[in-house]
Amino acid sequence: MTARRRVGVMGGTFDPIHHGHLVAASEVLAWFDLDEVVFVPTGDPWQKAARAGRAVSPAEHRYLMTVIATAANPRFRVSRVDIDRNGPTYTIDTLRDLAAEMPDADLYFITGADALTNIFTWRDVEELFGLAHFVGCTRPGYEMDPAAIANIPSDRVSIVEIPALAISSTDCRERTERGEPIWYLVPDGVVQYVAKHRLYTSALEGDTA
Ligand code: ATP
Ligand code: MG
Repeated sequence: MTARRRVGVMGGTFDPIHHGHLVAASEVLAWFDLDEVVFVPTGDPWQKAARAGRAVSPAEHRYLMTVIATAANPRFRVSRVDIDRNGPTYTIDTLRDLAAEMPDADLYFITGADALTNIFTWRDVEELFGLAHFVGCTRPGYEMDPAAIANIPSDRVSIVEIPALAISSTDCRERTERGEPIWYLVPDGVVQYVAKHRLYTSALEGDTA
């Protein structure tokens, strides 16, 4: 019997993808000796307009930025499973689809530790833990409350500290809106993609994919 592959799964809106995401994926890949990390951009939300004040950029833009950002790394790839499924993205569906696609793989779901603490609001929690090991990344300045993950089976979750990267997509969007640079916060190709398609500038709200 051949050894099972070890595959990281990094879900996200990636609007835009930034170096925080890439460092987190790279660190978890090294720590857990993974064969690859699959980035999975979320699908478009049902109601695009008037949702908490901001529409998420079209999925094709977010997908292409993720491809551009990961293309040079032979251990990174991008999956369209969430984009090609209709409706909002639930982690359970992502993991079910990827498990079916890669029956020979053990999955490691990589997420922010803050998102991990909300896990009991997620759907189908019991099945989730059967489908993947969960890796929570703590951000700088983030104090993990041990009680927050006390209910998660300890063999199904790990917490990893990611080095000084206080980068968020929200900050990248706000900087672009204000006309400030995002160079070095995101990969060069993503800076150029954002400019080319005029994403995150309220004047035009970007072009459609
Ligand atoms: P937004 O500001 O729009 O919420 P974001 O920067 O949190 O965006 P997401 O696409 O929401 O980016 O994040 C995808 C995943 O990456 C989430 O699990 C999130 O917690 C994690 N993540 C985001 N930023 C970082 C970072 N700087 N370091 C480590 N993990 C991160
Ligand atoms: Mg976020």
